[in-house]
Amino acid sequence: MNTPRDRILVIGAGMAGTRLVQELVALAPGACDITLIGAEPHAPYDRIMLSPVLAGEKTAEAIRLLDDDFLDRHGVTFLAGDAATGIDRVARRVTTAAGRQLDYDRLVLATGSQPIRLPLPGAALKGVVTFRDLGDVDTMLALGRPGAPAVVIGGGLLGLEAAAGLAGRGMKVTVVHLAGHVMERQLDAEAGGMLADALAARGITTVTAANSRAILDDGTGRVAGLELADGRVLPAELLVMAVGIRPETGLARAAGLEVGRGILVDDRLGTSDPAIAALGECVEFDGQCFGLVAPLYDQAKVLARALAGRPGDGFAVRPTATRLKVSGVDVFSAGSLGGADAEEITLRDAARGSYRKLVIRNDRLDGVVMYGDVADGPWFFETMRKAEPLGALRDRLIFGPAFAAGPSATGADAATAAVAALADDTEICGCNGVCKGTITAAIAGQGLTSLDEVRAHTKASASCGSCSGQVKALLGLCLGGSAPAEAEDADPAICSCTDLGHDAVRARLGDLPAMTAIQAMAVLGWKTPEGCSKCRPALNYYLLCAHPAAGVDDPASRFVNERVHANIQKDGTFSVVPRMWGGLTSATELRAIADIVDRYDIPTVKVTGGQRIDLLGVRKQDLPAVWRDLNAAGMVSGHAYAKGLRTVKTCVGSEWCRFGTQDSTGLGVKLERITWGAWMPHKFKMAVSGCPRNCAEATIKDFGVICVDSGYELVVGGNGGIHLRGTDPLTKVSTEAEVIEICLAFIQFYREDARYLERTAPWIERIGLDRVKAVVVTDTAARQALGARFLASQTHARVDPWASLAAAPGAEFATIDVPARRAAE
Ligand SMILES: Cc1cc2nc3c(=O)[nH]c(=O)nc-3n(C[C@H](O)[C@H](O)[C@H](O)COP(=O)(O)OP(=O)(O)OC[C@H]3O[C@@H](n4cnc5c(N)ncnc54)[C@H](O)[C@@H]3O)c2cc1C
Ligand code: SF4
Repeated sequence: MNTPRDRILVIGAGMAGTRLVQELVALAPGACDITLIGAEPHAPYDRIMLSPVLAGEKTAEAIRLLDDDFLDRHGVTFLAGDAATGIDRVARRVTTAAGRQLDYDRLVLATGSQPIRLPLPGAALKGVVTFRDLGDVDTMLALGRPGAPAVVIGGGLLGLEAAAGLAGRGMKVTVVHLAGHVMERQLDAEAGGMLADALAARGITTVTAANSRAILDDGTGRVAGLELADGRVLPAELLVMAVGIRPETGLARAAGLEVGRGILVDDRLGTSDPAIAALGECVEFDGQCFGLVAPLYDQAKVLARALAGRPGDGFAVRPTATRLKVSGVDVFSAGSLGGADAEEITLRDAARGSYRKLVIRNDRLDGVVMYGDVADGPWFFETMRKAEPLGALRDRLIFGPAFAAGPSATGADAATAAVAALADDTEICGCNGVCKGTITAAIAGQGLTSLDEVRAHTKASASCGSCSGQVKALLGLCLGGSAPAEAEDADPAICSCTDLGHDAVRARLGDLPAMTAIQAMAVLGWKTPEGCSKCRPALNYYLLCAHPAAGVDDPASRFVNERVHANIQKDGTFSVVPRMWGGLTSATELRAIADIVDRYDIPTVKVTGGQRIDLLGVRKQDLPAVWRDLNAAGMVSGHAYAKGLRTVKTCVGSEWCRFGTQDSTGLGVKLERITWGAWMPHKFKMAVSGCPRNCAEATIKDFGVICVDSGYELVVGGNGGIHLRGTDPLTKVSTEAEVIEICLAFIQFYREDARYLERTAPWIERIGLDRVKAVVVTDTAARQALGARFLASQTHARVDPWASLAAAPGAEFATIDVPARRAAE
């Protein structure tokens, strides 16, 4: 053990230096004098949370790692904003930029990395930044302005997080990447393509296989754009270089320590000077440098033991997993991506946007790539780390731990089975390095019963929140059937920006006057000033639903398809679907469509399953003119992109069909004319079939009508797609007027009660069909009141968005000189 007054000086108050101090005071409280010195002018903060700060999802204060109370309690001296400039190894003294002389017995270097700046012409222009520290975030926020173009060079983890952050702030972001797909070090081409599509849906363009040539000057010393090697020019008012890091070794090199790519250390983190250790991104161990926090936390444990004189295992490199921290875009990757000697097993669920690939070598799991549903990631990671022969498990492995635990496990059972299968040392929270055993011990030992309590005691899920589901499952596992976490699930927090659930937010908004989503966040005490891509669209919808007359719609709170009133396609063009009431069209409409197709050189015309015509491949800049011409022929938006009424599919019914019992087409047209334009929690489809042969497929729609001799059978809560769900019977009525009355009440109940992005099927399963029947069928007064509210709302909603956009298109539709992603590949 060191003498009690040993002076330990740590240079670098980043993630590694700070973690070392935390480990040291926990291991040997009061055993030594600790001084932590950092060049940045801030208290130590969680660098991996810079992306949420950039995106406006967290504040700088919220990501602070050490508070004053901690420093006081443990007698740690912290010196901010002063860089160490020299080390006198003989005198054991460090000199700082501010002229301090700091003596030490043991010195620790934790100087991290420097972001690489490409030596491009124009790299020194104002507006060219890297993404490494809070200063960079401040610069981006000061120089970036909503609506302005930004370019990020580098489609790796950091570049994509920067791009998402800037897009979240309203900038039009293009990511330029050298390789053929984004995150190529972690993802294979297929998952990379899915990721690029998800980014495109957030308005982020990716240009791959692209090399940068020069950064252009606007004539005042500010960046104006990026010129690519092939001559293309991408406009930019802000240019972020996220192209890699280089270990910061200047101080060590000047002091004569042995340095390779990083400061050379042994497995106890000792350098070539016995009085000096080093850890973090500045070191090189066994030929490797580091760029993620997990190995740095392992190093901090080992070094703390070494400094405290308590022998233990040395540092060893363990595989690490990578996650992308972009709200709503889940990516998990660990280990190998494949290769000639590897077997690959893939599972792709295109409808749910989910993909997983396992790489197997010598009957052992050697790598995993997941996109979309990544909940099983830690289990695969653990299986990979165990490196045991897979044997018979191989055939079931791709389906994850729920299946491995027994094919009957579903839903919550599956989640519980997944966490139950993990070893105690499996890392659950990558941000804070918290393992399963730590969480379960805290739940059992401290009597924790809620997610918030687990967060407070263990830090698990307290940062990016992507492991919240697993932490909840662990709560359920430890507390059994009585887990109070279930009560919390009754209305879980919308996202990490707030502790309020959807139902609570709706209840509060109902009592408040009309306002914007941003204002509502302030009133409801949001933790972030501008929310995130999960909560903003939800708030925007709830406000529109609660205050239809005020019409405070915030386009910036909508996803790109709803913002531009068209569906973005995989090549960056758009699809345009005019409404065809009840599936009817005419020669005039068809002629107009044919002319428009010729006039705007539209490559594909497709008849949809919803009985309309889809014009595919429309250039963004042509959208306003296409809409104008469709409007001129009497057609309005089909809202094929909307969380709202899509189509009312009909069969020809009694008008033409010999089996038809009622005028199904006419009823469908009436329903569509009343309900079009309504915004809803999710897409909503209807159908009317003229007899039980059900040619219009009414039994897989959100609201379906089956005409029978004696009237109309009404069914609800169906949907097509990969998880096909047939409808539940709602009621049977005798007249068209009753059909319409119940339909409107059902829609309004759904609009007012369901959570944003919840389709009718899960909504009905959650609240129960009996409740829907009670409100919409049995309770006449409630039904009529719902219908009246719906019709009142519709007086403001039945507005063709294309008409106003065609008249005044705005900057969103200006020509963008960015080639399509696919074309660039
Ligand atoms: C935006 C972003 C997102 C990230 N996301 C993730 C993620 O999701 N998961 C993950 O595992 N990793 C992530 N990382 C990487 C992770 O943050 C780093 O691996 C980690 O911060 C490295 O810790 P470190 O202490 O070695 O270096 P740093 O955290 O960089 O700390 C080094 C500190 O030393 C200071 N310093 C340097 N020289 C001197 C000197 N001479 N005197 C005094 N102080 C000095 C520097 O100013 C700096 O504050 C991310 C990084 C960034 C930038
Ligand atoms: S559902 Fe019945 S009425 Fe409609 S087209 Fe089919 S057979 Fe004819």
